[in-house]
Amino acid sequence: MSHRIPPDSAERRAIAPVICYPNETLPDPDLATLAGARDAARKTGECLVPPREGRCFHVPAGHFFRITSVEGPQVGDMNLWSAADPRERFYSGKTRALHGTHLTRGDRLWSSFPGLRPMATITEDTLEWYGIDEFGGSVHDVIGTRCDPYTHHLLSGDDYHHCCHSNLTNALMAELNLTREMAEPLVHDVLNVFMCTGFTRDTGQYFMKASPVRPGDYLEIFAEIDLIGGLSACPGGDCGSQHSSDTAVCHPLLVEVFAPTGPVSRPRPAPNGYRWP
Ligand SMILES: [Zn+2]
Repeated sequence: MSHRIPPDSAERRAIAPVICYPNETLPDPDLATLAGARDAARKTGECLVPPREGRCFHVPAGHFFRITSVEGPQVGDMNLWSAADPRERFYSGKTRALHGTHLTRGDRLWSSFPGLRPMATITEDTLEWYGIDEFGGSVHDVIGTRCDPYTHHLLSGDDYHHCCHSNLTNALMAELNLTREMAEPLVHDVLNVFMCTGFTRDTGQYFMKASPVRPGDYLEIFAEIDLIGGLSACPGGDCGSQHSSDTAVCHPLLVEVFAPTGPVSRPRPAPNGYRWP
């Protein structure tokens, strides 16, 4: 049944929007202090994530990690867990509500309830120049979820085993010696590193387009608490055409960890202060 357009429809549409979560009261990420610590940091380890695979890595609080495009354009689906308790994990939806649909330098990666604290802070982004393109697309989104075999099966009837959800599950099982039943519920919606996405203006549908990332581009992140990171080199490659298949050209992603040479004068964020009555 179609419904009548009300006579004041134009007036109602013309109401100006207000920001749901004004974020000026959030604690300052203090990028200057972090830049100083990073200048003096030294590399302590690295991990190469093979194409269509996932890997986990540890980043102690106060350390930095860098995700770099190597060999060719490639998108990475990233999860973060508190090393002390992996049930506290990255909350992409609330991060989106606080910072916007796409993240860049200065944005924080917030943890799930009840912690709701910054797990990490983005300190460098070589794709910061991209901004928002004419299609409404931008880079490093928190609007997608992660490619997964269930949605793929729902839409195509096929089974594909190298989706980012599967890769992250397998990587966490290996890292923490967990069964799939234990690991899979800990995998969560991602930060889509290097992925270029948006919503179509006419239908509001989630779109992707070939990532502008090129070898040498990187995203660097400061660990506010002890972290386990998970990264999947998405089977969609640069996500210019499709994912959840073996047809896209895929490349590895490099993860490097850097330790500060002195103490970073920065308190670890406490869990959220809210108390139930
Ligand atoms: Zn993926």
